[in-house]
Amino acid sequence: MARHSRNDQAGIDLPKARLDRESLSQVLELLRYLRPYRVRFVLALLSLFSSNLLSLAFPYLAGSLIDAANRPGASVNGTALLLVGILAVQAGFLFFHSLSFATVGQRAIVDLRRDVYARLISLPMAFFGNRRVGELASRLSADLVQIEDTLIALLPQFLRQMTLLAGGIVLIGITSLKLTGIMLASLPVLTLVAVLFGRRTRRLAREAQDRLAETATIVEETLQGIVNVKAFANESHELRRYHSGLLGFLEATLRSARLRASFVSFIVFALFGSIVLVLWSGARLLQAGEISFGELTRFILYTTFVAGAMGQFADLYSQIQKAVGSTQRVRELLRETPEVEATLATQPASTLARLRGEVAFEDVHFAYPARPGVEVLQGIQLHAQPGQKIAIVGPSGAGKSTLLSLLLRLHDPTRGRILIDGRDARDYPLTDLRNQLSLVPQEVLLFGGSIADNIAYGRPGASQAEIEEAARLANAHGFIHAFPEGYQTTVGDRGIQLSGGQRQRIAIARAILRNPAILILDEATSSLDSESERLIQEALETLMQGRTSFLIAHRLATVRNADRILVVDQGRIVESGTHAELNAIEGGLYRHLAALQFHAHPTVPAP
Ligand code: ADP
Repeated sequence: MARHSRNDQAGIDLPKARLDRESLSQVLELLRYLRPYRVRFVLALLSLFSSNLLSLAFPYLAGSLIDAANRPGASVNGTALLLVGILAVQAGFLFFHSLSFATVGQRAIVDLRRDVYARLISLPMAFFGNRRVGELASRLSADLVQIEDTLIALLPQFLRQMTLLAGGIVLIGITSLKLTGIMLASLPVLTLVAVLFGRRTRRLAREAQDRLAETATIVEETLQGIVNVKAFANESHELRRYHSGLLGFLEATLRSARLRASFVSFIVFALFGSIVLVLWSGARLLQAGEISFGELTRFILYTTFVAGAMGQFADLYSQIQKAVGSTQRVRELLRETPEVEATLATQPASTLARLRGEVAFEDVHFAYPARPGVEVLQGIQLHAQPGQKIAIVGPSGAGKSTLLSLLLRLHDPTRGRILIDGRDARDYPLTDLRNQLSLVPQEVLLFGGSIADNIAYGRPGASQAEIEEAARLANAHGFIHAFPEGYQTTVGDRGIQLSGGQRQRIAIARAILRNPAILILDEATSSLDSESERLIQEALETLMQGRTSFLIAHRLATVRNADRILVVDQGRIVESGTHAELNAIEGGLYRHLAALQFHAHPTVPAP
């Protein structure tokens, strides 16, 4: 009898929300996703109500049939045919609204998923900094499944039980007021128990769900860092951690299950107890000749309807609480302010003229939103002329990546400002600005797809000729061409694995294709063989030509060729100049780093 959603079967307990005016009105907000399909939805509702009315006619006619059977000479055929006819019509309605609810629900959910994803990827970095993104993603997808279930199955079911309950009670009343009174006496008791139970389980369900999310995080973290797990031979340690998380989950779930079990058994006992009570009273009324056989049958059938509906209500109520709880995170996410607007339509051409590439940092201070008290950058002052190559060196944790992430506007300075072509970076439309910047990251992420697709990521819509030209300039054409499938070779999880050097050249080709005014490079720290090193160095030189380039440098060659080197330490620029100038500073940090690293091991990262 009880209806279980897919999430229940998967063992994920979703949060339940208190059902009050506020939470319900917020849920109504999500109903706007039904608006484009409202005609079909309303028709489905009408069909549902019609089929419910026919359900209610069924016991009535069944009663008439029995009474007719008791009257000698009365024909039973007509009533029986009518019953069959009603069943057929009802089947038609049922087909229509089952299909309609599924169609409308699925379409609305597709729209909702699209919007949730669009919002998620358009949110500023600060949003991601504060969260465990994997956990968020898995919870969101569980939430969406729950909402989907609600639209397709729970809502129709709820409406059906509501009408059966209300209609059943009215029709019972018409049949026998006395029996109805007895029936209704048990209703408030059951309702009260259901409400009390709902409150108790809500807390337990939430707890179990939190525990499960914790274990999911462990799986995700360890799989992402599987190399670390293996390198430290920590498999057993991780297993113990995971297992103890699971045990915590089990305990919480079982507590919730115990409560639920006692509730269900109580309800069944109370429910059937009240049915027995009603039957007994009905039998006595029949004996006394106050009602007919047909009326008693009618009454019994209606009673099962009403009892069935009441029995499902507790379950439905808790399902609805879950659904409301599920919408919470989704609604919260949709309410976050995105930094850009992601749309399905192709972006209109940027109105921003090509930047010259002059960059200035004016007394820039910055603290990550996750750690507001710690200033990672403390008064950065720099000025780059168009076309200059600026190398940034310094110990690990000095703030080099942070500095460049501010230039990309992944974050904005907490104090001070960044000027691009003399204008505050915050005054540019974000997408237009980023379209003129390009990042070649340390760890190049290739998407599942062909090599051509991956290069075209720099400028979606680029032609094959443009892609190949970019690859040539990036010194990548040679190795791509050598693959049997050339540019159509699949890379990523399901394709071939490229070496670090090859991936970097693809990233460089991507950036060349993008043709940015300002380049941001985070040199890979991994050592490469000297041939790869030379090819990459050459490709980088080509790429940097005619653009303002900032690069976090680990290689002597790149540093030497830079117009200026900034030495960053603890969030400050401590030295600035050319290689020769900085190397001449007695006791300077650059000279120290250079002596320590560059000379001894040219390809080893700075500390
Ligand atoms: P570098 O690139 O020079 O190695 P980073 O710019 O990555 O240094 O980091 C500078 C400081 O900022 C470090 O102390 C680091 O712990 C901190 N940091 C980096 N990213 C974040 C973040 N997302 N949230 C909070 N602190 C961060």
